[in-house]
Amino acid sequence: MALFSKKEKYIRINPNRSVRNEPPQTKPEVPDELFDKCPACKKMIYREDLGVTKTCPTCAYNFRITAQERLSLIVDEGTFEELFTGIETRNPLGFPGYQEKIADTKKKTGLDEAVMTGLAKVEGQLTALAIMDSHFIMASMGTVVGEKITRLFELAIQKKLPVVIFTASGGARMQEGIMSLMQMAKVSAAVKRHSNAGLFYLTILTDPTTGGVTASFAMEGDVILAEPQTLVGFAGRRVIENTVRETLPDDFQKAEFLQEHGFVDAIVPRKEMRQTIARLVRYHGGGK
Ligand SMILES: [Zn+2]
Repeated sequence: MALFSKKEKYIRINPNRSVRNEPPQTKPEVPDELFDKCPACKKMIYREDLGVTKTCPTCAYNFRITAQERLSLIVDEGTFEELFTGIETRNPLGFPGYQEKIADTKKKTGLDEAVMTGLAKVEGQLTALAIMDSHFIMASMGTVVGEKITRLFELAIQKKLPVVIFTASGGARMQEGIMSLMQMAKVSAAVKRHSNAGLFYLTILTDPTTGGVTASFAMEGDVILAEPQTLVGFAGRRVIENTVRETLPDDFQKAEFLQEHGFVDAIVPRKEMRQTIARLVRYHGGGK
């Protein structure tokens, strides 16, 4: 019966669902490479605003930089003489893929190993300098890292020079097992000989300094500086919480917390680091 037919009462809408479900085309296109997210305060920062020191304008966090970038911020131009390169990384445990990983990382970072060592002048003061770079297998400490730092201390004793080390590390190089842990004792012994010779040793903790490096030469400096908001610790937060069965404060393992508790002497912003190092070296007899 045509009078009650429903078919003409429906409103016809676009039956093409795939078109209707598409998101609106109004999202602005922002190229990723223009912005960085600050790992400390989580704000998005226009990359140019980070400046040469790569510092967050909101919270003063210092972004992780490469050893080469660090070098250009700290030493007098043209004075760095790199030493102890070409020491071959062994694979004592026959860890699968380790040699390939090393070769690949060397190519990617342009570094010889996770630490760069040599002699350089800082505002005219000659120093034995080591810079660790977390881009190289999280700057984990294997035998080559231990050997390079030990040789740097030996040279500094011979030449009566201060040692300045920028630490950064994820800890021991697990691919080298016990050989990696032995570096802690080896480097500490070299630090002691340098100290016995009456020479000055300065460490600067940069984000992140953890594990075996914290448990040895990072915390053995005569003066210990840190960049703002640097993570410093031995074991991870959850490991400690599970062991002591207590909830730890939020800023636990930050350089600022360690300074309050006397483990760090001063927090120094990156843009003041060069002059601070030069001043401390001068106060302690200088690097002639
Ligand atoms: Zn920030």
